[in-house]
Amino acid sequence: MNILVTGGSGFIGSHLCRLLLSQGHDVLVLDDLSTGRYENLEGLEDGRRLRLIVDSVNNAALVDQCVREVDCVYHLASAVGVRLIIDQPVRTIESIVGGTENVLKSCSRYRRPFLLTSTSEVYGKGSKVPFCEDDDTVMGPTSKRRWSYACAKGLDEFLALAYWVEARLPVVIARLFNTVGPRQTGQYGMVVPAFVRQALRGEPITVFGDGQQSRCFAHVEDVVGALVRLQDSPAARGHVVNIGNNEEISIEGLAKRVKELTASASEIRYIPYAEAYGEGFDDMQRRVPSLERAGALIGYRPARSLDAILRDVIEYEKGVMS
Ligand code: UDP
Repeated sequence: MNILVTGGSGFIGSHLCRLLLSQGHDVLVLDDLSTGRYENLEGLEDGRRLRLIVDSVNNAALVDQCVREVDCVYHLASAVGVRLIIDQPVRTIESIVGGTENVLKSCSRYRRPFLLTSTSEVYGKGSKVPFCEDDDTVMGPTSKRRWSYACAKGLDEFLALAYWVEARLPVVIARLFNTVGPRQTGQYGMVVPAFVRQALRGEPITVFGDGQQSRCFAHVEDVVGALVRLQDSPAARGHVVNIGNNEEISIEGLAKRVKELTASASEIRYIPYAEAYGEGFDDMQRRVPSLERAGALIGYRPARSLDAILRDVIEYEKGVMS
């Protein structure tokens, strides 16, 4: 098949491209390289089996051309990272909502199956975990810019499902929980690469708040495997499906584990949220997915444990640093 991956030079997108190529597909990547990096596709771009077009999903005419020439679409292009979202709220909202609208319009015009990567952020501040797909997704206060990302992604979900209901366009929505692995940039605040780099350099490991907030980290290989199965599964069409891992760890616990696995002498330093993100930041206290639906629809179970994930990231970061 010929497959379009928007955001294909990003962290998750580049792993997805590798998987699709290994399955014998040809891949067209549309990416403006804003948070994606050309190096993520290093050695893959040959102008034949993988082609990269550097432009934005906000370019509707180009999106239309790309969608027309492929068999299906994975739509991953999006602003990403809490830091960027706080600093550039206009770009965040416009790229998410406008880009998705363009891709969906063209998919509908040419009847191309569409997969959207959404986010566990849509579950908002709720702390009744695990989060199930049918839970309320009430967004946070408008005055706090950090919720604009969740809200924009929530709108994308509604729009995609509207195309499913009204136009019978095959769509599926993957709500991704924290995804980590080699090639993730720590630039926009992602905690695992940040901690691993700090530990390897012997710098303080910066835990924001009291570190009692928790997350569940999934390996990017598990996640992209699930995306392909979702796209290929007729049973998943019209569904929202959590994809992640449900092994929960506090951020303080994560800092300690990274320190142990790297045998680092780094101190763990606690930084108030206001200093890390500016005044009035709301963090999600817990974020644990229910994976029942993913299990029922595509037989998904994350294969890699947190320790295996951390070892993988540590090896990668050591290679980058040497
Ligand atoms: N965090 C931290 N130190 C860092 C970066 C992040 O303590 O250097 C915390 C952050 O406040 C959040 C968690 O780690 O509670 C996960 O942050 P990340 O930005 O990776 O993803 P999020 O789950 O917030 O989308």
